[in-house]
Amino acid sequence: MSSDLPSEAGPAKPASADQHAFQAEVSRLLHLMVHSVYTEKDIFLRELISNASDACDKLRYEAIAAPELMAEDQRLAITLSIDKAARHLAIADNGIGMTEAELVDNLGTIARSGTRAFLDRLSSEPQGTSSGLIGQFGVGFYSAFMVAERIEVVSHRAGSGAAFVWSSDGASGFTVRSATETETASLPRGTRVTLHLKPDTDAYLEPYEIERIVKTYSDHILFPVELVGESGERRQLNSASALWQRSKSEVAPEAYAEAYRGITHQVGEPALTVHYKAEGRQSYAVLLFVPGEPPFDLFDVERKGRVKLYVRRVFITDEAELLPSYLRFVRGVVDSEDVPLNISREMLQNNPQVAQIRKALTGRVLTELVTLADKEADRFAKVWDTFGAVLKEGIYEDFERRDQLLGLARFHSTGGAGLRSLKDYVAAMRPGQTEIYYLAGSNLERLKASPQLEAALARGVEVLLLSDHVDSFWTTRGLKFEEKSLKSLTQGEADLSAIPYLEGKSPEPPTGDTAALVAALKTALGEAVSDVRISNRLVASAACLVAPGAGPDLALERLLQQRDQGLGLKPVLEINAAHGLVTAVANSAAQGRSDDVRDLAGLLLDQARILDGELPPDPASFVERLNRFVARGLSSVAAG
Ligand code: ADP
Ligand code: MG
Repeated sequence: MSSDLPSEAGPAKPASADQHAFQAEVSRLLHLMVHSVYTEKDIFLRELISNASDACDKLRYEAIAAPELMAEDQRLAITLSIDKAARHLAIADNGIGMTEAELVDNLGTIARSGTRAFLDRLSSEPQGTSSGLIGQFGVGFYSAFMVAERIEVVSHRAGSGAAFVWSSDGASGFTVRSATETETASLPRGTRVTLHLKPDTDAYLEPYEIERIVKTYSDHILFPVELVGESGERRQLNSASALWQRSKSEVAPEAYAEAYRGITHQVGEPALTVHYKAEGRQSYAVLLFVPGEPPFDLFDVERKGRVKLYVRRVFITDEAELLPSYLRFVRGVVDSEDVPLNISREMLQNNPQVAQIRKALTGRVLTELVTLADKEADRFAKVWDTFGAVLKEGIYEDFERRDQLLGLARFHSTGGAGLRSLKDYVAAMRPGQTEIYYLAGSNLERLKASPQLEAALARGVEVLLLSDHVDSFWTTRGLKFEEKSLKSLTQGEADLSAIPYLEGKSPEPPTGDTAALVAALKTALGEAVSDVRISNRLVASAACLVAPGAGPDLALERLLQQRDQGLGLKPVLEINAAHGLVTAVANSAAQGRSDDVRDLAGLLLDQARILDGELPPDPASFVERLNRFVARGLSSVAAG
């Protein structure tokens, strides 16, 4: 048997093993794992090797400032060993190791923000779909409980004299105790994770199977991953070379896909791979991926990116924010030849070389996206579908690249199925049309049915339909594309009157005393609206709501209200003077029936709200009013 395995028959456990409970999120995740929503069990090994590799990275980084940490053993490696008889599989590293407190924190909680929200989503998904979702999460250490009925982690923090043992069955919490002397001596530095395999997992006791899994999932790991045989001989399973340092022509597509899965902890293929070497003022190698699936924390409030910075093959940090927030979905590696190795992570933020890399990298990623959009529209459409809502944040906040981002942007529109670019839109503008029109809201289907579209449709004018949250924000920037302003159809100012109606679509001009009608409605509605106007945008519907003036539109106001930050914007009620309901108001007003005017005015306003996806503020009186009129209509039918 290999000497790397902890001895079962060692001295009895000291009685002082402390019992700990898992954080609630961990318990939920473990429950999901054990009940195996996730079918790709093999990935547990990728996760444990990835942790071992991170631990080696961390030690190498700390050793830049404190070389003594590595003095005794300079060769960092990951060692796998199998004990068939005992049904043990062990993954050991001589990396940084964990203190007792770190064992409790790191293997009892989940630090990643957004985890709770993600778990909620996961539990609400129908069974079959969750395995894809959990793949986006990057399942981590706890995934080992898919295959192990008990896990023991012996860890010896580099530079400390003591080792500790964490142990758990993945259900009833975990214990942590001091390691025995033999255990401490057998692991002078780093961490050994020993899996007590479940009965139906014999494959993981087969060396060739372990080798296959390592080659599939962990070939890109930069440290040697070695399998120790029964007689102690070591065999390296991975190629342990930095893929990004090779030239493009040497890298097979499958090798990129494998590196992609390793770096992102996702399954599947990248949507776009960017691999190049920059030479000149600075030299660095770049390997970036646009993922095929959204990462679980895409809409996290922190908006953090995860591109890893290496300096001459040494991992430094994944928090250097090498790309702006609106490109946070891009994952991968930048390996610099010039950034000083001993720079502290805090100093990186202000380092001019890093700033220059950041700028060049951002430009390159956008250029690659533009090229994809030009050359392979379908593939780009998929990227936009997945990440467009994030890219649009850049229109709002990256002034310098705004035009480029507007050029990349794709939108749903009334112009048909599929996504439209602003270039497409401008090319299809109607004679007399000088502005780009859009309608923003939270739901695409509802937007398509909105009465605000009527006048535009009757004039053959295309309208962009914006249903991402972020749309309500970037559109407030007063933007232009090719000198054409973007205008919301719900803003009072949007004026289509210069654009001719399509044949046979022009509405009847309003007749009768419209001034008296408007005045009667204003009196009836009082403070509920800021104004009442005869509409030039309605053709079939009776009424709609628009925002007063050129300020924020109603979609933004509603979004802000949900966060209790409403601007107190009161809508304008626009009415279609040719509509039967509106002529009924005019008649009632002319005959002095003020109760009817009030009821009808209330109905008009509530209808307009409903069409905008809002509930009437007082649903009971809405229903009452409606019923009064319906009853009246029915009795006149009966009297008929
Ligand atoms: P992640 O790797 O995404 O942080 P994991 O669930 O895989 O999440 O691991 C949780 C934490 O446990 C790691 O962040 C790390 O601090 C610690 N850890 C796990 N394995 C090791 C190891 N082999 N050596 C040192 N620390 C480890
Ligand atoms: Mg991990």
